[in-house]
This record gives sequence, C-alpha cells and structure tokens, in this order.
Amino acid sequence: MNQTTLQKYETVIGLEVHLQLNTRTKIFCGCANVFGKDANTQTCPVCLGLPGTLPVLNRKALEYAVKIALALNCKVNTFVKFDRKNYYYPDLPKGYQISQYDKPIAHDGHVLVTMADGTVKKIGVKRAHLEEDAGKLIHDERANASLVDYNRTGTPLMEIVSDPDLRSPLEAYEYLQALKLTLQYLDVSDCDMEKGSLRCDANISTRELGNNQLGTKAEVKNLNSFKAVRAALEFEEKRQRDVLASGGRIVQETRLWDEAKAITAPMRSKEEAHDYRYFPEPDLVPFVIEEGAIAAVRGAIPELPRQKLERFIKEYGLCEYDGNIIVADPDIAAFFEACAGIYRDTKKICNWLNGPLLQELNARKTGLKDIRITPEDLVAIIRKVDENVLSNLAAKDTLKFVLESGKSVETVVQEKGLAQVSDSGALEGIVEEVIRANGNVVQQIRDGKESAVGFLVGQAMRRTQGKANPKMIGEIIKKQLSVQ
Ligand SMILES: [Zn+2]
Repeated sequence: MNQTTLQKYETVIGLEVHLQLNTRTKIFCGCANVFGKDANTQTCPVCLGLPGTLPVLNRKALEYAVKIALALNCKVNTFVKFDRKNYYYPDLPKGYQISQYDKPIAHDGHVLVTMADGTVKKIGVKRAHLEEDAGKLIHDERANASLVDYNRTGTPLMEIVSDPDLRSPLEAYEYLQALKLTLQYLDVSDCDMEKGSLRCDANISTRELGNNQLGTKAEVKNLNSFKAVRAALEFEEKRQRDVLASGGRIVQETRLWDEAKAITAPMRSKEEAHDYRYFPEPDLVPFVIEEGAIAAVRGAIPELPRQKLERFIKEYGLCEYDGNIIVADPDIAAFFEACAGIYRDTKKICNWLNGPLLQELNARKTGLKDIRITPEDLVAIIRKVDENVLSNLAAKDTLKFVLESGKSVETVVQEKGLAQVSDSGALEGIVEEVIRANGNVVQQIRDGKESAVGFLVGQAMRRTQGKANPKMIGEIIKKQLSVQ
C-alpha cells in the first residue's frame, strides 16, 4: 500500500477497560478479595451462586465507583440499579452476571491525555459501571481437561468505556497510561495487567478521511499488556486499511490477539453471538445515593496527576518533560516535593530523581517506598556536590551505597572514603610526582600541546583513586609548569 492510500484513511479507536477494585471483600459477599490463593478457597454460597442465597452490595465498592466517576469527570447516577446479564459459561456459576445496563453509575466524563507529541487531548468517557467478575478457567493440557477456580468470582469490577475519540494505536496507549495513573492515584486498584486487575478490550474501525460516519468495527480481545494493546491495534489498523484499499469490506467481528504470531485472528463466531436478555436484578433493590455521601467522596479525592503536574510546573518551575516523569509515580512526586521543601534548586533535584535514582530503582526492579533513602539523604548528597566534597561520580556511588546499606550519607562518605581530596598541599605533592614521571608529556605541553594536560590530570586522578577534584588538579599542573 503506498503513502497516498494510507493517508486516505482515519483510524477510530475506543477502549473498554475492566478494573478490579481493591476492596477488602468481594462485591456481594464477605469473602476476601485477594489474589494468588489456592483455588476455590475464597468462596461462599453467595459467590458460588448456590440457590437461596442473596447478594448484599459492598459499600466500599460503591464508594470506589463514585470516586472513579468523579475523578474521570463523569456525571454520577445517584439512582443505583443493577441488572442481570444472562449467559452461560463454566466460570459463571449463577448463569448470569450482576452488572449495570441502562443506568451505569457514571457517564459522560473525560480524561485529559498528554500525547506523545506534547499536545493535550480530551478523551471522552462514555460510561463506567459496577459489576462482578467471573471465575477463572484453567486449561490443563496434561489432563486434557478444564479446571475452574471461583476465587475471582464476585471481585468488584468497574468497566470504563471510552468514546471513540482515539485516532491511533499510540493515542490508545497514551490514554491507557493516563487512565492507569489516575486510578493509581485514587488507590482503588493495583492496576496490574499481569495479575489481570486491569484488562482492556479495544474497538477499532477505519473510515475515509473527512467521513464522519463510523466504519464497521472489530473488537480486539486477549490483550495482556499496554504494549500488546498498541501492537494489536497497529496490526489491525494496517489490516483494515489493506482490506479497504483493495476494495473489500470490514466484517464486524471479535478478533483475538495472538502474541506469539503478532497477529489478530477472528474468534470462532459461535462463541461470540450473545443475547444477554438483561433485566433488573430482583435481589438488589434500587436505591438513591444522597448528595452528602457524594460530597464526602469528592472531598476524599487526592490531588490527581494532571493537577499535580500543573502545580509543579507553576510552583517549582519544572518543565513539562521533567514534571511528567516525576508525576508518573505518586511516591516519586511526594519525594520530589519533600526535597523541594529543603533545597531550592528543583532542576537539580529532578535531574537526580529522573537520572541516578530512577536508574537504581530500575536496576533493582523496585519502587521508591521499598528502598532506604529519605529526601534528606538525597539533598545531603546534592549539597556535597555543590560544596565540592563529592565529585559527580562519587555522588552516584554514595547514592548506591546509601540504598544498599541504609546508612547515612555522612557515614557512607567516610567509610568508603568517597570525599574528594581538596587539600591543595596533598595534591601539589601528587602533581609533582606525576610531572616527574612523565617528562616526555611535560615536554609536549611546553611545546604548546595544551591537550596533553588532560593526560597528566588523568594520571593524578589515578593516584588519588578518583577522589581528587580534576579541575583543581588541572590548575595545579598549569601552575607548576608555569603555562596558562
Ligand atoms: Zn463469597
């Protein structure tokens, strides 16, 4: 397909995100809402769907749903009603899922997303509703059998449906990042795609540029990471354009992403034709949330990433780039702010946080709250560089040793002998030795080859095991050789 054909088309994407809420107990019973326990140990007659049992709504799950609704700038439906979504599957013991159909708890909101090119785009949130998760089927190839684990059954889920406002796989990726970050700040889920606590299905269609009608969409499922979402959509975008460019038609279907082959393939059609026969859930009486309760939830919403970014730019003079990296982790953001409270040069703090500290965290595959460093420690290191006590290299080593040992900066610098030798008497002696040992280089310098000074500086640095201040050594060499 040539470039002109490619430019003829526009991609339209909408995402459905399923989020497991991290409440202590399940949505309609008192079973623990935990991940990774032995199969079928976290169940009771209610979540197993036994006859005669009745669901009771978890107040915390409702509170989290309202929190999410408000944070996504949605209108909240104060009239709360649940519906039965009927279908049969072995992981759904009741034969129906309790969900919300015509009265989702939230609707008509939006997320502001900074796209890769720096522009900020408003992505609509069409609706978000509360429902229960199903169990999990485990296909045991050795036994040639399928096993079912009902521990997940009844985990509170929030389904967040975006408007078809995304125009490229990259935009979809950026939206997911922004959405996830907001949800992490709210502390309503661990948002871990690997554990399945955040899942995503994507709707994608293609239309000719300038056409406002939506094209026929394909729904892509089996996306297990943000990277997979992007890769699957890139594949699907190209596939749809190829079909249209060759005069074909897109068929409405569900397609599964095959990670190993890096393709999407149609799902067997009999698995997807559903008529859910929704009807109001008779075991849960509709009720109204009072305005006061919503105001209380609103009051408990922390500062969200976008507000924080804007405040950091304004208050601390951060650039958008630094700000985005810092705000991308709530712990780093808090750490930055604590540092900024005791040290004025916020650019330097950013450079340390976004550079050496993040590198150390990545190398250890850990987060800030799991390691032993305080804002005071980091500022102490930065100050020692300012005061020429530590070279940049020694400062990075200090950081590493502080992280490893949990000892104070002062102790680490002393124990490891990291302080620079700034005693000019000692340095003069070392420089004299170096000059004596390198007669030929000295001659080159006297002949006007200034660059050879660097070699002598290197030799002197070696003799101090890197602890000298190289600038000082350079000056002493020039002084001793009487060249300027
Ligand atoms: Zn239960």
